Amino acid sequence: MWGAVVVGVGTAGCVRIRDMLVPLPGSPAANLSVKGFISRRSLDPHQGVSQISAEEAVTREDIHVAFVCTENVLHEDNIRTFLQAGKHVCVEYPMTMSYRAAVELWDLAQKKGVTLHEEHIELLTEDFKALKREIQGKILQEGTLHFTGGALKPGFGFQAFSGIARLTWLVELFGDLSVAAATMEEDSGNNYSKMTAKLLTSDNRPLTWIEERGPSLPRTKNINFHFETYTLTQIPAAPRGDVGLFMQDLIHFSAKLTGQVSAEELHKEKTRVLHCLELAERIQQLALKK
Ligand code: NAD
Repeated sequence: MWGAVVVGVGTAGCVRIRDMLVPLPGSPAANLSVKGFISRRSLDPHQGVSQISAEEAVTREDIHVAFVCTENVLHEDNIRTFLQAGKHVCVEYPMTMSYRAAVELWDLAQKKGVTLHEEHIELLTEDFKALKREIQGKILQEGTLHFTGGALKPGFGFQAFSGIARLTWLVELFGDLSVAAATMEEDSGNNYSKMTAKLLTSDNRPLTWIEERGPSLPRTKNINFHFETYTLTQIPAAPRGDVGLFMQDLIHFSAKLTGQVSAEELHKEKTRVLHCLELAERIQQLALKK
């Protein structure tokens, strides 16, 4: 069994506790056992699980794993603390708010001989799988992915990082990308922001990624992908899968802990995560350039 602690009990942290208490039977996630949670607040037991201090968590020998579920800006320090203590870490995306920090943390994980995993539930949705099947083998001419959503909460960082799930979609669909230009419009009085990134595929096809946020905006993704022979303007509708997204991620993470994920797959995932963080950092630099 792998003893685990959950750091940050917001939406994601509560789901992590719930899923470890009732894992999918017979899956590697059944090897995880939640021992406590860490919070900046002083909280009563949650789902029967008690609060413990970070100091206790890093020293306890029956705690092998930390789930980092805080706001994005706190991920880096929390990951480092647990990796230093020789614990495996599962962090909700985005891993860090800079490319360099992620490289350093991955080096640290390797040095300590532990697993560092970044959750990407957006790749596990049936919608995404249907979209990927739909465009397989087709050659993109140009495209746009326009995300809208409510105002960003404090601590979630620049849009290219907080929205890395959308960037990860684009990289998974169209391969490695580069950044040609990026802009940012902001109306802080009205909590409104719009980031536009002009990306290029490896054969120089333009892809535009927009993250638009404001209090009255619906949470939705609009696509417009032009291929040689047709245009796709809607994400194919697909029924939800039987296993929840966070549970699927938990199974994938625990499969890594039990050595069931090949070195080739681990390398591919790490390369993709770092590529997306590098793109996010470049977009931020260009968008915020005066
Ligand atoms: P959240 O706002 O619910 O929680 C974020 C942090 O705020 C947590 O550390 C939580 O302990 C703290 N918090 C929550 N309520 C609080 C309160 N009343 N007082 C003080 N602190 C409080 O955010 P979240 O949705 O759980 O996101 C956490 C991480 O998970 C982020 O990195 C996010 O990108 C990632 N993530 C979330 C989802 C999701 O569906 N929620 C999906 C994918 C990734």
